[in-house]
Amino acid sequence: MSLFGKYRASYSARRGADAISGTHVGKSAKWHKEHEKAFELAQNEAKKHFHRCPKCTKWVCENDWNEQEGLCIVCAPRVNVEVAAAKAAKAADDIKKKAQNTQVFDGEIESTKHCVQCVISLQEKENFVIIAELLLI
Ligand SMILES: [Zn+2]
Repeated sequence: MSLFGKYRASYSARRGADAISGTHVGKSAKWHKEHEKAFELAQNEAKKHFHRCPKCTKWVCENDWNEQEGLCIVCAPRVNVEVAAAKAAKAADDIKKKAQNTQVFDGEIESTKHCVQCVISLQEKENFVIIAELLLI
């Protein structure tokens, strides 16, 4: 469904909701006709700010329109944008590869066991017990 088709459906749905809620209740047939005409005029005014892609038939705003190709940017991506995005992606890949081959830590990792109850390392606890035993002797 095109952008304006969606608006038309939305308008119809809203109009139905308005009729149910009562905001359009009591309005004359002339009012309804003028209301619908005003909506159509507003819709035509809005169309000036959009382009209809001849390939995918979608309505898109200026930001999504490729003026040089006369197509939306989905059907005809902008070359400069694609080049910039590809360069950025390649730079990110290069950084990751470089980082993979770089050593950032050359220390040693020791595994120390701790007592679950007092959080003292088991080696310290063992030393403490030995000292305590020696003092008692
Ligand atoms: Zn398109």
